[in-house]
Amino acid sequence: MTPNTLTAHAILDLIKQKKLSAKDVFASVSAQIQKTEKDVHAYATIFDAPQIQENAAVPIPIAIKDNICIKGELTTCSSQILSGFKPPYDATVIQKLKASGAVFTGHANMDEFAFGSSTETSYYGPTRNPWNLACVPGGSSGGSAAAVAANEAIWALGSDTGGSIRQPAALCGVVGLKPTYGRVSRYGLIAFASSLDQIGPITKDITDAALLLNIIAGHDEHDSTSVDLPVPDYTKALRNDVKGLKIGIPKEYFIEGIDPQVKKSVFDAIAILKKCGATFEEISLPHTEYAVSTYYIVATAEASSNLARFDGIQYGLRRKPDHIRKTPLIDLYEETRDIGFGTEAKRRIMLGTYALSSGYYDAYYLKGLKVRTLIKKDFDEAFKKVDAIITPTSPTTAFKIGEKTNDPLSMYLSDIYTISANLSGIPAISIPCGLSKDNLPIGLQIMAKPFDEEMLFRIGFTFEQNK
Ligand code: GLN
Repeated sequence: MTPNTLTAHAILDLIKQKKLSAKDVFASVSAQIQKTEKDVHAYATIFDAPQIQENAAVPIPIAIKDNICIKGELTTCSSQILSGFKPPYDATVIQKLKASGAVFTGHANMDEFAFGSSTETSYYGPTRNPWNLACVPGGSSGGSAAAVAANEAIWALGSDTGGSIRQPAALCGVVGLKPTYGRVSRYGLIAFASSLDQIGPITKDITDAALLLNIIAGHDEHDSTSVDLPVPDYTKALRNDVKGLKIGIPKEYFIEGIDPQVKKSVFDAIAILKKCGATFEEISLPHTEYAVSTYYIVATAEASSNLARFDGIQYGLRRKPDHIRKTPLIDLYEETRDIGFGTEAKRRIMLGTYALSSGYYDAYYLKGLKVRTLIKKDFDEAFKKVDAIITPTSPTTAFKIGEKTNDPLSMYLSDIYTISANLSGIPAISIPCGLSKDNLPIGLQIMAKPFDEEMLFRIGFTFEQNK
């Protein structure tokens, strides 16, 4: 038996029936890491043999994105500036996972500080797509998605600021969920853009996504943006039934730039859901064309502020200057940041600092926040008419490693369909819906009202059962 190829829920059933032990599961995941990690490079750090509690509720091997703090384990955001950093505390999601008996395989590779859509900007080098090693796995949670797709973990956690869970899930043929902003605590997630970031599950199927969200969701007094609402049992939403549901198809999402194979797969999925009893209507999200530019103002502004703390004093790398040019302290800050941050991180810090500087704040940042509100209002209007919205997750399938590294603007467009959900705070999921002629996965995105993750699970589950 190769338990590493199974879903978490299948494994939990077998454990319950005493046909499998948690130790066997971990052993098969470990063996797979030995076998494929040299090609895939899903991990930034592989942990030493973890403790396995045979009688725990959910002793499932899980990969954790390298920006989620685990006490005593190297946590670097795949950046040189955090080299050697071992957090003194666990993120809230990690505490919850530990309480459920989770087995941590390692910290998954990512774009440096989650800046990117391809996992090529990691200090540790790129992750490769298990479906085609010449291609990127998407990003920035590319290591998490590749680990699950390569069966080097049963499931994983990623973080999503503009699409970083959903886009790599789509490109690797797995399920990726960005919960509603505030549903999952961000305490212990090293911040990229605090008003956009959410932690979420990357899994092999919808049932596993519901199970993992059950573990990590909920209010947390350590995160003032987490919301104090009851957490439903998400597995109750796994119903093979979409009768009577109204689903919107936004016309702005099917314009030029979309790969015809992606478009076809998404419409094939829509046809299946129609057969199951859902009705579809065209809707408009008129401010969609401003989403990418708005995001790159708001996200870089917040990132430039969040990254100011990496100064060579408090965390990770410290570079003591050989010659003093200004003052010993200023030189230490500057040299540490010069060496510690990669090109994309520097680009974002400069863009964000510019957008926040006096004289430009009103023209860029404040304007960005206003357009963000308009984008959110588009969704409020749409959800008066429909229960959910369906779109592609990414305009293309996985692209070649190196193809977009010298063209940041074309890289930024990878998130054209995912970014609006972050700007609006709504939940969104990516589900595999087909393969291209080149045998590369295609993802379907479903979006719903704030705190209506159950709608995503219900539609996703129905699609999974009938495809
Ligand atoms: N690709 C987007 C960016 O580069 C989104 C990243 C993310 O969600 N962390 O900012």
